[in-house]
Amino acid sequence: MTPDVLIVGAGLAGLCCARRLHQEGTRFLIVEASDGVGGRIRTDMVEGYRLDRGFQVFLTSYPEAKQQLDYPALRLKPVLPGALIRYCGKFYELADPWRRPSAALPSLVSPIGSIADKLRVARLRFRILRGSLEERFRDPETTTLQTLRENGFSDSMIDRFFRPFLGGIFLDGDLLTSSRMFQFVFRMFSLGNACLPEEGMEAIPRQLAATLPQGSIRFGAKVAHVRSNGVTLESGEELHAKRVVVATDGVVAGRLLGDAEPVASQGVTCLYFAAPTPPVERPILVLNGDGAGPINNLCVLTTVAPSYGPAGSSLVSVTVLGIHPDAAALQAKVQTQLKDWFGAHAEGWRHLRTYRIPHALPRQSPPALAEMERPIRTSTGVYVCGDHRDNASINGAMVSGRRCAERLLAELG
Ligand SMILES: Cc1cc2nc3c(=O)[nH]c(=O)nc-3n(C[C@H](O)[C@H](O)[C@H](O)COP(=O)(O)OP(=O)(O)OC[C@H]3O[C@@H](n4cnc5c(N)ncnc54)[C@H](O)[C@@H]3O)c2cc1C
Repeated sequence: MTPDVLIVGAGLAGLCCARRLHQEGTRFLIVEASDGVGGRIRTDMVEGYRLDRGFQVFLTSYPEAKQQLDYPALRLKPVLPGALIRYCGKFYELADPWRRPSAALPSLVSPIGSIADKLRVARLRFRILRGSLEERFRDPETTTLQTLRENGFSDSMIDRFFRPFLGGIFLDGDLLTSSRMFQFVFRMFSLGNACLPEEGMEAIPRQLAATLPQGSIRFGAKVAHVRSNGVTLESGEELHAKRVVVATDGVVAGRLLGDAEPVASQGVTCLYFAAPTPPVERPILVLNGDGAGPINNLCVLTTVAPSYGPAGSSLVSVTVLGIHPDAAALQAKVQTQLKDWFGAHAEGWRHLRTYRIPHALPRQSPPALAEMERPIRTSTGVYVCGDHRDNASINGAMVSGRRCAERLLAELG
């Protein structure tokens, strides 16, 4: 039977679009190039370890996710607010005074920013939490670095904390990402917890997919061409529908839609190691405050969710910004830095896998977020959704899929 809507891609955006159409009884088919749902959110089981394809966290405060996901069923495990910062041969904790007041006092006098910087964080938090998210997205747009400077932060606070922390979120160590994205992320971190689902990040798209009818996703079906009423698969097969939605990442969408200006991407490399004992005993993000060496951040995932590894073992994820041409040389440099940070402890760590993700996030430097939501219907009548239409996050991808479906429903009557 010909579906009303063909959706290209079973990432979060495609799944949320499908879910909304299904709620209204609209017939759809998702065609997905890979062998599973989730797109950029997949989890591999390797020797009993859960390896997310690139370290990422889920923020419980995401407004769209709150509407669409069943949080208790995800069994979310929180990361401690704050961070442990490697600086000049030592680790310093920067705690969140609102959520962990007892840990906040030593943070005030650590070399990670001055006391004035910490007061500036409080002031910024107050400002960013005021009004609605939509209002904050209307604040003047500049880069994240510029907005940190305008808020008076010292270079030491920026370089030792904000650069590795936000750089690890935006995958952009230069902090050229839009200040609107910074405000969004800062607000989300202030209002909720960063978490990992017990069964890995892929549990999020799997939960969404479970609400769709059986047989409504066709895997291993790579789309080569799209038009307003159908697609051609790489195999040459033609599929027809009343409407077509391109729910791929921005780079593929640009290619399929023949965009003159392709979406630029931020790349990242994630290395996983199995360690006999945890190098850091608490579920906290570790940041590189020195700026030297390849590691931007790391996390012992089994301290967040023990289900990320077999009993009695530890899983360490290491994030390196960008894509490095020589994977073996990068791994050697990372291991040298790990030994510098954790001493003999890191000698026995076993490398499990490295993920190189060239198109991890759409680059969102100004004026990328000049509009909070960008058009989801092209001039050729094809629809498009994905994180590149809203903002580069789980929430942005989910919003774009839902609003694309709502636009379609309005047109299909
Ligand atoms: C390493 C990394 C870390 C991240 N960290 C965070 C984080 O901490 N917090 C956060 O909120 N967000 C994070 N993100 C971003 C978040 O994961 C993405 O914004 C979101 O998953 C994008 O979903 P999407 O549906 O827009 O696109 P995608 O997930 O890319 O889905 C697109 C789908 O289209 C399919 N497809 C592509 N081409 C074709 C074709 N020709 N034919 C058919 N199918 C096709 C793909 O296989 C894929 O399944 C991170 C992303 C990465 C990669």
